[in-house]
Amino acid sequence: MLLQRLPGQQADDEDWQRDVFLGETVSEKELLELTAMELLHRLFHEEDVRLFEPEPFSFRCSCSSERIESMLRGLGYDEVQSILEEQGRVSVDCEFCKQNYTYDAVDVEGLFAASDQPEVPQTRH
Ligand SMILES: [Zn+2]
Repeated sequence: MLLQRLPGQQADDEDWQRDVFLGETVSEKELLELTAMELLHRLFHEEDVRLFEPEPFSFRCSCSSERIESMLRGLGYDEVQSILEEQGRVSVDCEFCKQNYTYDAVDVEGLFAASDQPEVPQTRH
């Protein structure tokens, strides 16, 4: 069990100390056998208790081919071309989810052709 004091709440230290003290009285048996609501009620029945809907926990990586492509564009055409020459392709592994993104010469051309980076406007004198 983890007790956490939320920012922006004006509960005074005395209340918080009491909650910590009550929290420490919880037994292993109670943690294993009681539901969250029963446990909250048993420990903190003098408090105004509110139970939030549990959120399912899952891993989601935010990587996407768009992100990798914009990262490659950020490296610049010459840099990506030199990787192509060295390795025959450009291979990027997401360090979080291990998803692999591979680009061959044709992909790389398309990547930079499709670049929507604004052209530097030509100024006329
Ligand atoms: Zn990823």
